[in-house]
Amino acid sequence: MSVIDLRSDTVTQPSVGMLDAMAKAATGDDVYGEDPTVNGLEAELAKRLGFAAVLFVPTGTMSNLLGLMAHCERGDEYIVGQQAHTYKYEGGGAAVLGSIQPQPLEVQADGSLDLAHVAAAIKPDDFHFARTRLLALENTMQGKVLPLEYLARARSFTREHGLQLHLDGARLYNAAVKLGVDAREITQHFDSVSVCLSKGLGAPVGSVLCGSAELIGKARRLRKMVGGGMRQAGLLAAAGLYALNNNVQRLADDHANAQFLAEGLRAAGYDVEPVQTNMVYVQMGEKAEAIKTFAAERGIKLSAAGRLRMVTHMNVSREQIEQVVAAFVDFSRK
Ligand SMILES: *Cc1c(COP(=O)(O)O)cnc(C)c1O
Repeated sequence: MSVIDLRSDTVTQPSVGMLDAMAKAATGDDVYGEDPTVNGLEAELAKRLGFAAVLFVPTGTMSNLLGLMAHCERGDEYIVGQQAHTYKYEGGGAAVLGSIQPQPLEVQADGSLDLAHVAAAIKPDDFHFARTRLLALENTMQGKVLPLEYLARARSFTREHGLQLHLDGARLYNAAVKLGVDAREITQHFDSVSVCLSKGLGAPVGSVLCGSAELIGKARRLRKMVGGGMRQAGLLAAAGLYALNNNVQRLADDHANAQFLAEGLRAAGYDVEPVQTNMVYVQMGEKAEAIKTFAAERGIKLSAAGRLRMVTHMNVSREQIEQVVAAFVDFSRK
């Protein structure tokens, strides 16, 4: 029985083509700046996303951490979504390791932060307060794409208030493919952007932080400090380059599969949230554990949550999505 794993788009396996590219990668010691494949990946992404400099790092968590620490000093504050990955799912790293105070705000239904709420949270320049330095957004946010018009407003807002603007773009390319725009249309609004190569793009490991030469210079020092300086990392960067060259446009297939899954579940009477990209959220309430066990017996891996998240990716086919819908139909008839 082949396993259908819908827990996350992080579970993808490297394809034969990707493994081949990794095997052929030229490598050097990247801490000395001598890995040609890492340098190539960083240069390629700088060009594609419109930044002066890019830094290859092991994880998106490290990429966000280095971005926040490069923008903010000890005692500074950043404004971030209450449900944002950076705030909620990264072990509090900005506070623990950077002494950066988070100011979390409730995320709006469309995945954005209300700029009026952000304005109200900015602290006056007064020694009672932490210094508000940065606004961090996330795109996609739980599968939702932030409107380009909102990004433009966030850009002028942060300029007006003297804040830096960071994007956790772990799934930047899902957002760009969904909007049918070049990723630069999104990244142009930000001072720094973190992108995961290891989510829907299908690389086994790796993220990048993009920004100005000065910001990335600081981030490079911080990367060494937190133990993220890798040596012959070209093996991994080759997977990232392969992903960028082969796996971006196909994200549309994952989005279509997510829509197909949502429609099938709705037709079977499930309460499914509107789908934009590769994430399907279903209200399972108290049946969360039961559906997880039921699905597992049919080779389908789900997370156990009342608000069940299912994520489509390159290792789940349309035929397998049909099997998932059939399993949910069977479950509803039990
Ligand atoms: C996965 C993810 C990250 C962090 O990525 P890791 O590589 O798992 O550390 C950051 N932000 C978002 C929105 C993510 O989904």
